[in-house]
Amino acid sequence: MSDIASSNGSPRKACIIGAGSSGIAAAKTLRERGIPYDCFEIGSGIGGMWRYNNDNGHSSAYKSLHINTSRDTMAFSDFPLPRDWVPFPDHAHVLKYFESYVDHFGFRDTISFRTKVVSVEPAGPGNPRQAQEDNGDWDVTVIGPDGQSRTNRYGAVLVANGHHWNPRTVTYPGEFHGQQMHSHYYRTPELFSGKRVLVVGFGNSSCDIACESSRVADATFMSVRRGAHVIPKYLFGWVMDTILPKVIWKILPWWAIRPVFAFSLQVARGEVSRYGLPEPEHGVLQEHPTISADLFNVLGHGNLRIKPNVQELCGDSVKFVDGSVEKIDTIVWCTGYNISFPFLDGQIIDPLNNEISLYQHVVHPDQPGLYFIGLVQPWGATMPLAEAQAKWVADVLAGQSGLPPRDEMLAEIQRQRAKITKRYTQSVRHTIQVDFYPYQRLLTKTSRRGRRWPKRPL
Ligand SMILES: Cc1cc2nc3c(=O)[nH]c(=O)nc-3n(C[C@H](O)[C@H](O)[C@H](O)COP(=O)(O)OP(=O)(O)OC[C@H]3O[C@@H](n4cnc5c(N)ncnc54)[C@H](O)[C@@H]3O)c2cc1C
Repeated sequence: MSDIASSNGSPRKACIIGAGSSGIAAAKTLRERGIPYDCFEIGSGIGGMWRYNNDNGHSSAYKSLHINTSRDTMAFSDFPLPRDWVPFPDHAHVLKYFESYVDHFGFRDTISFRTKVVSVEPAGPGNPRQAQEDNGDWDVTVIGPDGQSRTNRYGAVLVANGHHWNPRTVTYPGEFHGQQMHSHYYRTPELFSGKRVLVVGFGNSSCDIACESSRVADATFMSVRRGAHVIPKYLFGWVMDTILPKVIWKILPWWAIRPVFAFSLQVARGEVSRYGLPEPEHGVLQEHPTISADLFNVLGHGNLRIKPNVQELCGDSVKFVDGSVEKIDTIVWCTGYNISFPFLDGQIIDPLNNEISLYQHVVHPDQPGLYFIGLVQPWGATMPLAEAQAKWVADVLAGQSGLPPRDEMLAEIQRQRAKITKRYTQSVRHTIQVDFYPYQRLLTKTSRRGRRWPKRPL
């Protein structure tokens, strides 16, 4: 491992925050490239979201969770999942995969567990913009397992703290007197037994939770604001994300793939209204996918009923916008997550309404040395994209690639934002949306183009 030294001769390091799938991809990449780093993780193990009942308190995994992006799609580029594993492994297997990745590449000893990053500040006298003027150093304060805090200086910070841990709440008029929880806290369905349950939302967790509830509850309702192209895990017996050959996803733009994918979906599944769901008003690929194999069966069994948006909470019942009222004991709010960086000052980054202004979803245009890994919501799996981001950042830290001037970064951020706005339904759910292959390509291209921009090695 070659040391990268600062101008005064002392080795400068990078700091990685988090050892979920994004953090371990970053750690493995930096280690491989000889870039010194420290990695801090709140929990006592790696895996973040995929560690069920993680003692970091951040994991939203429920007991029955299976990955919905298939085995081969989620694999890191140089470490396939075992071929004899099922196409949609459960959280325990996904974690096992990450554990063997860390062991295989041998970097567990570079991760400080039970260590929480509590603040990340630009080195200098307190002004966030100071980092612009100096060499982009950051003072990172952590609280370790002994409860002691310490501050170290780093030449770069890679934030990989996940974006599915801070529950987003929504408010409706009125009050509800029953039991309520956000999907983040849901683990097993026993608590629904004998109850009348309302699941609010139409994403992946809400479908899973509503299906589980429907098997034990007296009645289960799912409130959906609009239709969705629910995608079963298999189409014509093929794993759904392999139904079109990779090359099609790779070379064709989304609008050219859309009719083919929509047609396959239509033939294999039929219209969603046949199952009692509202027909979506947007095209397929214009919303983050809702993937559920079980939903259609459960709807067919009659144990789950679809309701429109909630209008009002009325004590022990809920009124919906179609005027119907249902007595409800328990509400599960599957209303998504707020992107949050509790260790960063709001002047440095303020993810209000999940709007984040990062160049290629990674680089802060105003704060040299501050990078974000895994802060995307792909059509496809997150893990290989976090790996691709880490490789680009490693190129930058190693001085092999540079970054464009601030104005160019801001212009590109606007271009990307306009694209997202044009394509997706307006929702805080879609602010960091990317397409798997085009985004991978974009990162490779950006790194290559960066060869002609001024370099700022670590
Ligand atoms: C129910 C559910 C199902 C999902 N299914 C899929 C799927 O099928 N496919 C897919 O690709 N994605 C899926 N995702 C998205 C999921 O978030 C990613 O798969 C992946 O886990 C993100 O990894 P990450 O490392 O970015 O974040 P996380 O897994 O959340 O890891 C972040 C890590 O950072 C640590 N950390 C946070 N703050 C600090 C701090 N201050 N100091 C030190 N450490 C810190 C945390 O303890 C955690 O270990 C799903 C998400 C949810 C909620």
